[in-house]
Amino acid sequence: MNKSLKIHFQILNKFSELRGKEFTKFVGVFTNATPDKYVSATHHLLSRQRGVYVPASYDLAYSIKIDSTSENYYNKVSYSENGFIIKYFLPNDIADGQKERDRNALYKNYIDEIPIGIVLKEAAGYRILGLGEITSFFNEYIIVEPFLSNIGSGDILKEEKEVEKYRITEAKYLTKVRLMQSIFRKEVLNHFGKKCLICDIDQEELLVASHIKPWRKSSDKERLDKYNGLPLCNNHDALFDRGLISFNENNELLTSSRLTEDQVVAVNITPGKKFSFDSVTESYLKYHLKNLFIK
Ligand SMILES: [Zn+2]
Repeated sequence: MNKSLKIHFQILNKFSELRGKEFTKFVGVFTNATPDKYVSATHHLLSRQRGVYVPASYDLAYSIKIDSTSENYYNKVSYSENGFIIKYFLPNDIADGQKERDRNALYKNYIDEIPIGIVLKEAAGYRILGLGEITSFFNEYIIVEPFLSNIGSGDILKEEKEVEKYRITEAKYLTKVRLMQSIFRKEVLNHFGKKCLICDIDQEELLVASHIKPWRKSSDKERLDKYNGLPLCNNHDALFDRGLISFNENNELLTSSRLTEDQVVAVNITPGKKFSFDSVTESYLKYHLKNLFIK
């Protein structure tokens, strides 16, 4: 087993075993902890400063620290002795590379279904809430719910098997893709309204949340970004997707020279019609104009 994955698994096991325990000390428990019966090396469970802990040169998050007074990330938690639901606001300042890294790591935890350690900051110290799983991933926040499966003892062979369980299968991946697409659709339709941007048809079953920068070219973050979407009917989605229509830098509708005048009329397009878009959407449209539009 890959060494960092092995330590990671031991850390998860420690979070699970210590569920409900309170600590007053930070150093020695959560950071610079010496090897113990759970983890075979000196380790960190949390980041001292940041809400999310992603170890250096690693792409998964080990833990999140819930602290309603956190300066880094604000978050909301409702929890009882029996469980918790956390609405954790995501670090989304892309000018801050570390926050972007944290966000990407959390996204990978979500997609690969790797649980995450949860520690609640209380007035007197820290309480380990155990393991959580990210059950929803939105642009602005994630939902974290208890991960209740028993992840087993420190036995290596058992660990190998357990890690196998976390490895993503193609079927699981496809489920995630569908989930992401349905989240994207909901967000795009809520943002723009439930009608085709071009012809105003408001029959929801005919509407598609069309990616401006295509799915296959997008990062996972862009795939979920509502500003990277337009609500279009099936016809207009097909035209946009194939680069037969686009928008120029003044947000005016363009048609490809491949379409005849009669066809333009038949598909209910008014070339030159002006739209107004959010600036983030405009930058995605620039990409479409440059890379997809057939002049
Ligand atoms: Zn339409």
